[in-house]
Amino acid sequence: MSHSEQNKKGFTTRAIHHGYDPYSGYGALNPPLHMSSTYCFPTVDEGSARFAGEKEGFVYSRVGNPTTGLLEQRLAVLENGEAALVTASGMGATTSLLWTLLAPGDEIIADTTLYGCTYAFFNHGLTKFGVKVTHADLTDPANLANTISEKTRAVFFESPANPNMRLVDIAAIVAIARKHHCQVIVDNTYCTPYLQRPLELGADYVVHSATKYLGGHGDLIAGAIVGPKEALDQVRFYGIKDMTGAVLSSQDAFLVLRGLKTLALRMERHCQNAQAVAEYLSAHPKVEICHYPGLKTFAQKKLAERQMSLPGGMIAFELKGGFEAGRRFMDALQLITRAVSLGDAESLAQHPASMTHATYSPEERREHLISEGLVRISAGLEDQDDLLSDIDQALAAI
Ligand code: PLP
Repeated sequence: MSHSEQNKKGFTTRAIHHGYDPYSGYGALNPPLHMSSTYCFPTVDEGSARFAGEKEGFVYSRVGNPTTGLLEQRLAVLENGEAALVTASGMGATTSLLWTLLAPGDEIIADTTLYGCTYAFFNHGLTKFGVKVTHADLTDPANLANTISEKTRAVFFESPANPNMRLVDIAAIVAIARKHHCQVIVDNTYCTPYLQRPLELGADYVVHSATKYLGGHGDLIAGAIVGPKEALDQVRFYGIKDMTGAVLSSQDAFLVLRGLKTLALRMERHCQNAQAVAEYLSAHPKVEICHYPGLKTFAQKKLAERQMSLPGGMIAFELKGGFEAGRRFMDALQLITRAVSLGDAESLAQHPASMTHATYSPEERREHLISEGLVRISAGLEDQDDLLSDIDQALAAI
């Protein structure tokens, strides 16, 4: 099947087939895993033409490898982007992109809430090199309009935000950014392209921690950037090659390719389990508030329905007894595993203030809307009744 025919297929068909012809080579059903750091040139002229970018062909795996290349093609087609670039981690994606796009004197505007290490990179990394970082509450796009200036090169946000599930209206942010020739970068880790495609809403780049749902089995660390080909070539040949060296190994790319084959199935089940857990939590007398886009009470429900096809697998909630109640709840869990990360087959619970968002100071957490008592659950793929009875007994233990 030609690539243009593959492009017309549905999401899951593309996640399984795009970019690989099983009748090529030895006829292997699965795409081969290419474990080679370097590639040979039949002649000096061929080598120099590849180095100069005048001829297609591999040179060295820090800038390209057939297995990571196939994963890039699949992610690009799933996010509906021109090109993709895979990286050694989600942090590798964000840092490689921003070291390429930004220069001293530039300004970046980021949402109030960011994953802890992204926050640390912005505020303890970019700022050291003369980039101004401004945080604005992007859940109200008017705050971007009031903050943006001619020096603003990029706007960066997660939607839903990790960990408090605040949503940002992607199309509304894009409309404001466009007027100021400013680029929009969306961290789409929580949703994956199965639930939300920011590029279709006008965003310039999507970044991912492929460690999470895309890999899906908690056995690797990986990241990805999707966006315009010319710009991603710069990230590849400058941001990754010379700045971060955050190269994904072909073995991990192979595992992410395997994970993608079941992405749609897994996301459906993650969403069903999360909906059941969120409904149970929100009706429980010991729960102060549960933040989940699939709940009728969710403050941004209309926006969730507009830009996400399903409400996702992530839940955040606060217990009435605050931090101490949260600690007891977490310690009492028997099936749901106490661990960071998300998007795995196993349901995971974590306490952002002491774990993923410990890179913020307590004052910063308050300012950035991450309360000390918030508990985050990544709903896994287990049987729903087993998850609910574990939550029930853990709540009883408070
Ligand atoms: N973005 C989000 C929303 C995350 O949750 C994470 C990790 O938890 C990252 C980025 C960083 O990804 P990685 O751990 O793959 O570097």
